[in-house]
Amino acid sequence: MKITDAQVFVGGPAKNYVTIKIMTDAGVYGLGDATLNNRETLPAAYLTDYLISNLIGMDPRQSEDIWQFLYRGAYFRGGPIAMAAYGAIDTALWDIKAKLAGMPLYQLFGGKSRDGALVYAHAAGADLADLMTSIARYVDQGYKAVRVQCGIPGMPTASYAVPETAGQTGADFITDFSGIRPKTEIWDTDKYMRFMPDALGQIRDKFGPDLKILHDVHHRLLPREAAAFAKAVEPVGLYWLEDPTPAEDQDALKLIRQHSTTPIAIGEVFNTIWDCQKLIEQELIDFIRIAVTYGGGITHVKRIVDLAALHHVRTGFHGAPSHSPISMAAQAHLNAWAPNFGIQEYLVLGTPECDALFPSKHYLKDGLFYVSDDPGLGVDFDEGEAAQYEYKPGSHPVVRLQDGTLWNY
Ligand SMILES: [Mg+2]
Repeated sequence: MKITDAQVFVGGPAKNYVTIKIMTDAGVYGLGDATLNNRETLPAAYLTDYLISNLIGMDPRQSEDIWQFLYRGAYFRGGPIAMAAYGAIDTALWDIKAKLAGMPLYQLFGGKSRDGALVYAHAAGADLADLMTSIARYVDQGYKAVRVQCGIPGMPTASYAVPETAGQTGADFITDFSGIRPKTEIWDTDKYMRFMPDALGQIRDKFGPDLKILHDVHHRLLPREAAAFAKAVEPVGLYWLEDPTPAEDQDALKLIRQHSTTPIAIGEVFNTIWDCQKLIEQELIDFIRIAVTYGGGITHVKRIVDLAALHHVRTGFHGAPSHSPISMAAQAHLNAWAPNFGIQEYLVLGTPECDALFPSKHYLKDGLFYVSDDPGLGVDFDEGEAAQYEYKPGSHPVVRLQDGTLWNY
């Protein structure tokens, strides 16, 4: 059995999804997702300029050897661009393998450990009243877990993932498709530290003990500040505190651990098992946030899940809307299987346009995600629909302090 061809598509409704379709001489094809938010053309070029011609003639069933060929075979290896390209190929090969077996992918991992997998939604508000409205809407829809992000009084601009003006709730406020020159957000740590712990307490009081409340610091704090914040919010009982500090300095997590038992989630910008090995083995985190998309695909992320299981670290895969329904399907199969599953980030992708481009029987009900039993990933790709979309330049904001110092987005 041989790979005969592969094609890459870039575009989609309100996002630049990077989709690979790998064809075989057995009449079975596989799908993978190489979307790297705001850098989408780069993994697409890596695939088309360097990798696809190497795949032609390979046996698609040898996904482990092909993964090693892609990773070890590249002298300059790793990094988000390359790992997104490898991950897309790997995901497509697992799709082919499961279709050949006539089974949903989770069966190849060891079957289901649960029926529905817990997901969390994104609630956001320009102020606390708007945030409460946004949370209530998700609770009314049956969500059991919600990430909460709030505008900070006196902050010169909107901060991470919140709308600029009151009355806008529940949308994705991150990517700006007006071009590749980013907007600037102004950040003030003191104002955040004074406001946010109490706001989280008010959310707990309003919604009661059962709602799982998550909060994303988005790398904005220094280690000592993060330790103080994690300690201050302990009475709230957060499900997790996400990215309290940038994870380049992994020893910083020790300071947070020494001062607080608030659960910590990190890893959405990680690309390999070596990025999180220390954090997992030293049990400095509680949830690993890597994604199948730019974590090298199913082969590599499954290794991370197994390592995490040895150290009481649960999964909390990245699920920003920049991941296409293909990688979300791959993660849904891992979520159905993983004995150390925790939660899945889930933003509503199910617009009619997105469903038409990526048809599937996966579905969300009462805050749980149910995986399709169709053979393979259980998601398809409509090339006729794809023809109407093209790449749109977009950007994340950059962050500066009030004196102009560039800060962590
Ligand atoms: Mg995050």
